[in-house]
Amino acid sequence: HDVVIVGAGIAGLRAAIAAAEVSNKIDVAVISKLYPVRSHSVCAQGGTAAVLREGDSYDLHAWDTVKGSDFLADQDVVEFFVRQAPKEMIMLDHWGCPWSRTDDGKINQRPFGGHSFPRACFAADMTGFHEMHTLYGKATAYDNITFYDEWFVTSLILEDNVATGLTTIELKAGEMHAFRAKAIIMATGGYARIYEFTTFSHTSTGDGMAIVYQAGVPLKDMEFIQFHPTGLVPSGILITGGARGEGGYLINAKGERFMKRYAPEKMELAPRDIVSRAETTEIQEGRGLEGPYGPYLALDLRHLGEEKINERLPLIRDVAIKLGGVDPVKEPVPIRPAAHYSMGGIHANIKTETPVPGLYAAGECSCLNVHGANRLGTNSTSDCLVFGAVAGEEAAKHALSSSFRELSHEKILAEERRVFDGILGSEGDERVSVIRDEMRRIMSEKVWIFRKGDELNSALKEIRELKERLENIRVEDKSRPFNTGLVAALQLDFTLDLAEVTIAGALARTEFRGAHSRLDYPKRDDENWLKHTLAYYTRAGPRLEYIPITITKWPPAARAY
Ligand SMILES: Cc1cc2nc3c(=O)[nH]c(=O)nc-3n(C[C@H](O)[C@H](O)[C@H](O)COP(=O)(O)OP(=O)(O)OC[C@H]3O[C@@H](n4cnc5c(N)ncnc54)[C@H](O)[C@@H]3O)c2cc1C
Repeated sequence: HDVVIVGAGIAGLRAAIAAAEVSNKIDVAVISKLYPVRSHSVCAQGGTAAVLREGDSYDLHAWDTVKGSDFLADQDVVEFFVRQAPKEMIMLDHWGCPWSRTDDGKINQRPFGGHSFPRACFAADMTGFHEMHTLYGKATAYDNITFYDEWFVTSLILEDNVATGLTTIELKAGEMHAFRAKAIIMATGGYARIYEFTTFSHTSTGDGMAIVYQAGVPLKDMEFIQFHPTGLVPSGILITGGARGEGGYLINAKGERFMKRYAPEKMELAPRDIVSRAETTEIQEGRGLEGPYGPYLALDLRHLGEEKINERLPLIRDVAIKLGGVDPVKEPVPIRPAAHYSMGGIHANIKTETPVPGLYAAGECSCLNVHGANRLGTNSTSDCLVFGAVAGEEAAKHALSSSFRELSHEKILAEERRVFDGILGSEGDERVSVIRDEMRRIMSEKVWIFRKGDELNSALKEIRELKERLENIRVEDKSRPFNTGLVAALQLDFTLDLAEVTIAGALARTEFRGAHSRLDYPKRDDENWLKHTLAYYTRAGPRLEYIPITITKWPPAARAY
């Protein structure tokens, strides 16, 4: 295929449509380890940010994003992003996205944390679900897009440092195939499944990030992981920030709206890094509620009333009743911070180009520097749409002016041996689930919201020990078709690399910025750390380099809410 897209979430589907639109002669393939509408993007709940109303402006959205990023975002990319987002909303509207509406029929918008204007377009509290179905419906109408559903990509093939192909397992058959492409787009989503208490789907294991990293492409700003303030206790399933956008309160054991101590102006609608830190402090200082699953805080929606909850937050009510055992109409919902989003990802520029010609990255697996050290809620789905479209267009244009290259059979056969003889055939005595649980424990205990150098050092050592133990793995099921044990082993290999990069970046960054809260370096340090981290793969562990950020209009300032 001319353009091969790995991933069928919002970014991948948007990229496929954009590539197919460039020319009907472009042959586009979308490879996904999941059936497309099972991609993690269907979980997006609260909304998608875009400037649509009088009173709002591009500069205001850009400023909110830059301030939210704790001034680590590249401002040229942010300015482009906010200008493109409204076009994407209108386009989705024309393609049939069932947005929630105002009484006069306009796309409705709700307030969201860190945004100083109500600019989150929403479809009740199932925004991602409806966006995904709209995009998938649209994509299937193109004759020049072929879907490979439930195909698992294992590696990227480079020839002379140019991206030329991929190896994949067709899961149904358990056979390896190689894809040749003129351009490849990675749109494989985030990796917060390195943690236990997380809002992420079980399938969010950062495969694309790890695959390109192992092939020599740098990852950027991986130390910045977002913790969402309202993970439902005990499962970690998300209670959307839209619940606070609709007026929900956060309360502690004394019934206090504790955010008054941390963000007196924005209160519950402060950015996520600030609210999650506040919750952790409340718990550490003994003002949390106590329950069978440990201390927690509460999200109180009762004052919104049943009618509003049913209209605006029907999924949240359902989830709280079925999985939290409480009806938000009658009782506060038990919550605490949960790992939620990866600000870091594959190093790429404003055109989604990575340093490797022919390789592009979009969506959560990429780091285009829109979100810096902390993403604002509802800016991710806009990012996936805006830069998914850019990636599709750029990759298609690249394909039109390039030709196919021969793939090295040696490399493909070596990958087949690594996967089937090395991993599936291994007769070791280590279990995937044991190592995976260990990784998640280490990350949750030592690389969580508040971080310290000694704990990060110890986490790095322990993760490296787990990587050694992985060499001695055993997958019980030796059969080929739909071998979920093999998939879990491959995903574990990916996540261990990503955990290592996350810790290495966090250890090196001796400052307190956005979601990276170093207790031993309790101040933001603009003099030394106004820069992006790049992590390159080496056998001994990541090698770190740094590149400057881009400031256009907004010099770093104090960040109060
Ligand atoms: C519960 C929850 C709610 C959220 N709500 C919002 C919200 O309201 N607004 C907002 O802006 N953001 C929200 N976010 C964030 C947002 O949903 C995600 O950042 C975004 O959807 C990611 O989309 P994506 O297209 O990059 O990747 P994904 O949707 O994660 O898709 C990844 C794709 O890659 C494929 N893939 C992965 N690995 C492989 C492999 N090895 N081989 C083949 N295919 C592979 C998968 O099959 C999948 O199709 C939320 C996040 C969570 C966790």
